[in-house]
Amino acid sequence: MIFKTAKWTGLLWLALAAGFAVAQKPSAACAHCAEWNRRQKPFRIFANTYYVGSHGLTSILITSTAGHVLIDGGLPESARQIAANIQTLGFRIQDVKVILNSHVHFDHAGGIRELERRSGARVIASEWSAGVMKKGGIAPDDPQYGETRGIAPIRNVHALPDGGSFWVGDIEMTLHLTPGHTPGGTSWTWKSCQGAVCRDLVYADSLTPVSASGFRFSQARRYSRALQDFEKSFEFLETTPCDVLVTPHPEVSGLWERLQARERGETPDPMVNHDACRQLAQHGRELLRERLAQEAGQKSVSAD
Ligand SMILES: [Zn+2]
Repeated sequence: MIFKTAKWTGLLWLALAAGFAVAQKPSAACAHCAEWNRRQKPFRIFANTYYVGSHGLTSILITSTAGHVLIDGGLPESARQIAANIQTLGFRIQDVKVILNSHVHFDHAGGIRELERRSGARVIASEWSAGVMKKGGIAPDDPQYGETRGIAPIRNVHALPDGGSFWVGDIEMTLHLTPGHTPGGTSWTWKSCQGAVCRDLVYADSLTPVSASGFRFSQARRYSRALQDFEKSFEFLETTPCDVLVTPHPEVSGLWERLQARERGETPDPMVNHDACRQLAQHGRELLRERLAQEAGQKSVSAD
């Protein structure tokens, strides 16, 4: 693995160590977990990029002859299924060199610890996310702090700055900070080529303004940059080259409809939609507008 623009920040943790709370509500009930974790047959998205997640939570495998990249680990209980899916495709979990993450909530980062253990991979995340991963739990400036379960700490975590990239074999992955849903929300971009046809792939993080009760995105003292952060993220989606979009919750980018269309033999390839990222940004903007209107209509100002 070769780092191109990454400033390897072992120092990061020193800066963040003070701010995080320990895991809370570790066994909070999860209404969606069984459905999220439903079995899904792995399949090729495009060229060397495969879907290896459960039916409700995306995990992506990008392969090269010199090792693979895995994005997102689902729930803690998803790790076994993800590892099995990688094997079903004919790849080895031990060849996963790097594990990446969209955002540090238990439904996308919960399985990373076990996948890291099985693969020996290095985990790479945004600075904020890396801090949470090392400590475990959920950070106090996370909008869902207090009402969602935390993650178990992950050991082999390294931070990469916004715009930083690295190589595994001939795969070049680039980190884009797309915060809002969490302060460390991260989208990843890479190119995959099938013969002479190369596509820009985008794994775009969740951009939904979801929070614990009492938290307001419009006046969040714990996360005062929330609205600027959302704006930065929408602008990224509106401008980044985007042929194939995948999202941590697969239905958000219509993955199953696209797969069905492909299986019906539709052409051109329904996985490809050059407007998908812009459409996702537009949808995100609408959700945030609705949320802010709702907050403006609430009379009492609560502490966040
Ligand atoms: Zn989340």
